[in-house]
Amino acid sequence: MTEAYRVTGVKGREIIDCRGTPTVEVDVWVNDVLRGRAGVPSGRSVGSYEACELRDGGSRHDGFGVLQAVKNVNELIGPEIIGMDVTEQRKLDRLMIELDGTPNKSKLGANAILGVSLAAAKAAASSLGIPLYRYINASAHILPVPMMNLVNGGKLSSNDLDFQEFIMMPVGAETFSQALQITTEVNSKLRALLANRYGKLAINVGDEGGCVPPITSVREALDVLQEAVGQTPWEDRIVYALDVAATHLYDKNTKKYTIEGKQLSSKDVIDLFRDLVSRYPIVSIEDPLDEDDFDGFAAITRELGIQIVGDDLFVTNSQRLRKGIEMGAANALLWKVNQIGTLTEALDAASLAFKSGYGVVVSERSGETEDSIIADLVVALNAGQIKTGAPVRSERTGKYNELLRIEEELGSSATYAGRNFRRPF
Ligand code: PEP
Ligand code: MG
Repeated sequence: MTEAYRVTGVKGREIIDCRGTPTVEVDVWVNDVLRGRAGVPSGRSVGSYEACELRDGGSRHDGFGVLQAVKNVNELIGPEIIGMDVTEQRKLDRLMIELDGTPNKSKLGANAILGVSLAAAKAAASSLGIPLYRYINASAHILPVPMMNLVNGGKLSSNDLDFQEFIMMPVGAETFSQALQITTEVNSKLRALLANRYGKLAINVGDEGGCVPPITSVREALDVLQEAVGQTPWEDRIVYALDVAATHLYDKNTKKYTIEGKQLSSKDVIDLFRDLVSRYPIVSIEDPLDEDDFDGFAAITRELGIQIVGDDLFVTNSQRLRKGIEMGAANALLWKVNQIGTLTEALDAASLAFKSGYGVVVSERSGETEDSIIADLVVALNAGQIKTGAPVRSERTGKYNELLRIEEELGSSATYAGRNFRRPF
């Protein structure tokens, strides 16, 4: 190994995320130069099968401190990694998985491991003097369709709207920068419309920057979003998506979903989506059913013929994804690196998805830091779709702005995924 790629330092620290909750940040030094820094995101609408996020408990930060995870970075992981070649990502990640030794990374914490994994990837790219997306994939060139969550509900909001995310997708834009322009124009029409109709409290925003109007009806939320879109010149370039986050609407005892105050069976829920898809140009639904209902996911995927995305269902875990592929459950993977805990495992899950004809939606967490790494990762994967909130608040706009820079850097080789978002290459 040349000295130029030798890891000479690993330093973890506790920082706070966009909700003021502690999280892990890691610095990786290569050849005595600080080369990579990564902030670890955190979910609120979390799936049961996600890798373990280690929290301290106790009274400090209401139990949410991550000092133990940071200690694990500094005292257990760091000394093992120092001296290794930073460009050997798979070897680094494998070593941390073995050091942890548990199936869900509960010993060292997926937050500790992921911080090192992502900081090492950035450090490797920086040591080579190339952008991260290019380091991961020499043919990276697809700019994703931004899936903009403009109306927040569920666990990400303070209203009583059951579905978590009402999303617009500017698939008819010509470039990523035009797509971003379209979304900000729609968002500003939407904010004016909501304030006018529901009062000024309606334009307070939720965890992902979307408005939180006092609406309880799913159809009313879709109507108001469509109305805002109709006030712009972009109507024919926009389609819609939902993240239902249905795991959090489901009662495992009664086997019913509570939606708009009604108790619905899995079949009723599928009927509801069939109706919604017939009324609105909805092209993608994430987590329409509970995280354990592989059969239900297979049925809805067959029946609706649109993109069905597994988030809590797959948790970026190749084993769960493989089961889904065998059963035809969903046809796209929501890709969140902290659900699995290393970049290598997340990349493996994405290749399995692509190889099996599944789409990949790269996603933020509701608790983000200012780290914009997923902008590089979505381009690296040529995934064609990114879900990173409304075009407001810096922990969201940081990702969109980084995509603008990548688009500029790629110049004429940049291709906007547009209407081919499910299979852009
Ligand atoms: C989601 O459910 O897709 C999401 C981004 O929310 P969280 O990060 O809270 O899981
Ligand atoms: Mg989700």
